[in-house]
Amino acid sequence: MAEDKKYETLDPENWDDMRILAHQMVDDSIDYLKSAGERPVWQRVPDDVASTFQAGMPEEPSAPSRVYEEFRDHVFPYSLGCPHPRFWGWYMGNGTILGALADFMAATMNSNLGGGHHAAIMVEQQVINWMKSVVGFPEKASGLLVSGGSMANITGLTVARNSMVDWDVRKEGVRANRKKLTIYASTEAHSCNQKGVEQLGLGSDNLRRIPVREDYTMDLEQLQAAIEADRRDGCRAICVIASSGTVNTGAIDDLNGIADICKKHQLWFHIDGAIGAIAMLSEQVKPRLKGIERADSIALDLHKWLHIPFEAACILVKEESFHRGSFSLVPAYLEQDGGGIASGGHWFSEYGLQLSRSFRALKVWMTLKEHGSRRLGRMISRNVEQAHYLGGLIESSNDLELVAPIGLDIVCFRFNPGGMDPQSLNRVNRRILVELQENGIAAPSFTTLKGTYCIRVAIANHRSRYEDFDLLVHETVRIGKSV
Ligand SMILES: *Cc1c(COP(=O)(O)O)cnc(C)c1O
Repeated sequence: MAEDKKYETLDPENWDDMRILAHQMVDDSIDYLKSAGERPVWQRVPDDVASTFQAGMPEEPSAPSRVYEEFRDHVFPYSLGCPHPRFWGWYMGNGTILGALADFMAATMNSNLGGGHHAAIMVEQQVINWMKSVVGFPEKASGLLVSGGSMANITGLTVARNSMVDWDVRKEGVRANRKKLTIYASTEAHSCNQKGVEQLGLGSDNLRRIPVREDYTMDLEQLQAAIEADRRDGCRAICVIASSGTVNTGAIDDLNGIADICKKHQLWFHIDGAIGAIAMLSEQVKPRLKGIERADSIALDLHKWLHIPFEAACILVKEESFHRGSFSLVPAYLEQDGGGIASGGHWFSEYGLQLSRSFRALKVWMTLKEHGSRRLGRMISRNVEQAHYLGGLIESSNDLELVAPIGLDIVCFRFNPGGMDPQSLNRVNRRILVELQENGIAAPSFTTLKGTYCIRVAIANHRSRYEDFDLLVHETVRIGKSV
């Protein structure tokens, strides 16, 4: 049969036009990242632009170039601001151009990483092996790339729950008439861990929040006491969640101390390493993470301090059989056969909730190859140094003060020229933060520590320069004095 030129598919009507558009998109991307520091960090989406998102779903085709124009005019300029050298809000990475291009290539292949025999699976396995070596896990440990730290933590906590009880929790569920299962984390542990505990049916009441010391690390005497009290009350303690870098201040819990307690009481040792685990790449930070290799499971975020474009994170589990035992479910239509595409041998769908999975491993693989672990480690070390540089500027200013010790790369401070009551100070600092953001100067975020509102600068940024912190201090004082 002669080929019907008009046969409808979703491919471009004109591939040459698409090629021109694709080149334009790459050029625009490069310009965008190259000039990241020349734009305001952030700007509000104008009302007329926002209103365009109210339009209903298109029914008829549009030219790809028209679609792209709309993106370029209405979406591209109004980003959260992550690529900017003065974006220090919450806790996010910058991304890189090769990471972005890798995502494009991954999407081009449109591989599904659930399983099967194809090279993308091997790329993910290799990335997971690299991550094991980063934290000192044995080769036979297992892992999975997931969307973010939240998913990594809940995946690890699922394995902890399923492996630590003496009945088949997958089959029988978490039953109210069994012993109460308790989990321990500091009051500074990230909220995603509570969400995880809730989703696992354990109940947030049974997530014991252990008080922290002055440096915001978990108080291990109180941890010990809480475990013993629960044991006396007939609870079944199953897991301690350590934070290697808390979200508020970057505090690193005493990992060896927690490992000892877990060993003594036979508890699962999980580390929320969303911030700090990848900091093993930094020669300066690594000694502070001693004991990380003793964990049963570790959540690492890769879209934070490794600067992989969102989304990318990794969960590692030391004992492979526990990991697989928590998620493996293989119906006839997913059986792995001796030959053909299904002969993969290693199906990632047996290690997590997702069946269909993206090729997020590619951007991690290409980024690690492009920069190497040492340069990526140097970026981490420099951010820690910059945090202390900023700390020094704050301490030498009469108008500013640190609100918490600098645990890693996070600085919590406020404007306090003296003579103001606590409420006014909170109000003024709130104003300063909003002005910094609304004027596109810098994008720290905020938190409240022991009732004190503070400006929080989380420096996971490979584009920040020392003078960016000079500017932040200068502008903070200027705005503070003007309001
Ligand atoms: C960011 C963060 C999380 C959550 O990770 P996501 O990637 O945002 O899902 C968990 N724990 C800590 C300590 C974090 O900083």
